[in-house]
Amino acid sequence: MKFLSTASLLLSLGLGVYSQSNITDCLAAAHIETIAPTSPSYRTAIRPLNSRTPWYPAAVAIPGSEEQVSAAVKCASQHSLKVQPLGGGHSYGAFGLGGQNGSLVINMKHFRGVSFDSGTNIAVIGSGMRLGDIALALYANGKRDIPHGVCGGVGIGGHATHGGFGFTSRMWGTTLDVVVGMDVVLADGSRKYVDKDTDPDLFWAFRGAGDSFGIITKFHVQTLLAPEVGTVFNFTFPGLKTAAERVAIFKSVQDFSITADAKFHMRAFSVPSLGWGDSFTISGVYWGPKETYLELIEPLASAMPNNTRHLNQELDYLTALSSFDQWQPLAQREPYNPPSVSFFTKSIISPDPLSDASLTSFFNFITSPNANTQGKTPVYWYVIHDLYGGQKSRIGEFPLESASYAGRDALWTMQLYSSPAGFGGGYPAAGFQFMQDMVDSVQKPQPETNFSAYPNYVDPSLKKEDALRLYYGPQLERLKQIKRKVDKNDMFWNPQSVSVGRPPARK
Ligand SMILES: Cc1cc2nc3c(=O)[nH]c(=O)nc-3n(C[C@H](O)[C@H](O)[C@H](O)COP(=O)(O)OP(=O)(O)OC[C@H]3O[C@@H](n4cnc5c(N)ncnc54)[C@H](O)[C@@H]3O)c2cc1C
Repeated sequence: MKFLSTASLLLSLGLGVYSQSNITDCLAAAHIETIAPTSPSYRTAIRPLNSRTPWYPAAVAIPGSEEQVSAAVKCASQHSLKVQPLGGGHSYGAFGLGGQNGSLVINMKHFRGVSFDSGTNIAVIGSGMRLGDIALALYANGKRDIPHGVCGGVGIGGHATHGGFGFTSRMWGTTLDVVVGMDVVLADGSRKYVDKDTDPDLFWAFRGAGDSFGIITKFHVQTLLAPEVGTVFNFTFPGLKTAAERVAIFKSVQDFSITADAKFHMRAFSVPSLGWGDSFTISGVYWGPKETYLELIEPLASAMPNNTRHLNQELDYLTALSSFDQWQPLAQREPYNPPSVSFFTKSIISPDPLSDASLTSFFNFITSPNANTQGKTPVYWYVIHDLYGGQKSRIGEFPLESASYAGRDALWTMQLYSSPAGFGGGYPAAGFQFMQDMVDSVQKPQPETNFSAYPNYVDPSLKKEDALRLYYGPQLERLKQIKRKVDKNDMFWNPQSVSVGRPPARK
């Protein structure tokens, strides 16, 4: 990544040294640890996971208490700055760093720790924690956990405010479904505990669109008893060549998925056929012993091609979690400093089974020479189809009105990821169109389906209104109404946050 000198940085932000020092003076007066653009640690503090989206905030405040979060928000208000809290820093568009230059970033890294009430099994989790550490802490309290994503380094701050899907979600719901209360700081600096009784509007809004409404300092979550074991499995298909073969396999998986037990998680993983290994796999877990798994999977296993390789292994709960994240340890290192990579990701939520026409078009697209030949393909890519739904999935059992998160009817959620071919250098301009063509290959042949997108996989290439419609659909109008009440100056802002909008005209 190319860095600017401090002087040109401040100019490019449109910040005179005067206004920059004003916000830092205000934060200093409240004794808040602050990293200003002139500080030697600024570059490290603003390093995004996605090097394609670097942002240069006016300052990074690192509060150590709820009082200090409140004071930092008041400073931002005095200086008319936009604000974003930084959780685990895993936003695909680095929205935790503001999603633009010149915002105030409030880094929540000092909000750590998990306390556990063994009477109610409710845990209180600091919003600066990462998923792997949370899983370990909850498991140490009577082998419990919450549903969450696979990457241990993801922060609960962004994850639980925009969904939170993982390999236990068909059994337990998304992360935000187990949130029973939150300690929050609002745009006027006030501190509040919100739950379904104390403030139903904010409780609803934060669970789906938290970035637009304030800063959560602590999540109160209802934990669940973790299964003793999971049987992890993998189907690979030696000699697989054609799109038609992939369509047939996917259709078998889809047929099985509709009525699959909620203890199953399944995903299809597609990568280019560049000769590095299997370009199409079906994998997942059944949360139970191998014996039961083998019984339940039989209808699917027998529908697979003759030479299919089927591996399965029974693992204890924590080892199974680690296996989903490529056997990475669940415990996260601090300071957490993964390498920055330039990438661009899109997502598709399909409430309906993918039709023959859509599957044929998609698999034709990804197996065509333009998507597969090294050198011709503008980007390296992979696509994951995650099974969210089916008749027995817990995610769909929560009513749409239960949270502002809108993806209740999802059957499949697809993540379409791309990075520069060769994994180095900047993201090529042609990559955006290539990825859009890939999305079109799924959606255009199935015009009858109302496709949407997943707010935890932000796609910064979408215009704000399009993104909001895709993320929130029918929930959007209520979100705007609540936003007008609690953040009328649009302080909690990123390029795809819920905006205040115009109030409806009086009749
Ligand atoms: C490697 C990787 C693996 C992933 N795997 C999964 C997965 O398995 N399942 C899944 O569902 N998603 C997954 N994701 C997506 C991930 O859930 C989202 O990117 C999530 O929003 C990241 O949260 P964060 O706190 O780490 O990110 P940040 O960049 O810190 O925050 C993301 C957004 O949330 C806001 N936010 C952060 N903290 C708070 C807070 N305390 N209060 C209010 N708003 C806050 C930020 O301001 C920002 O707008 C993955 C992402 C990556 C990069």
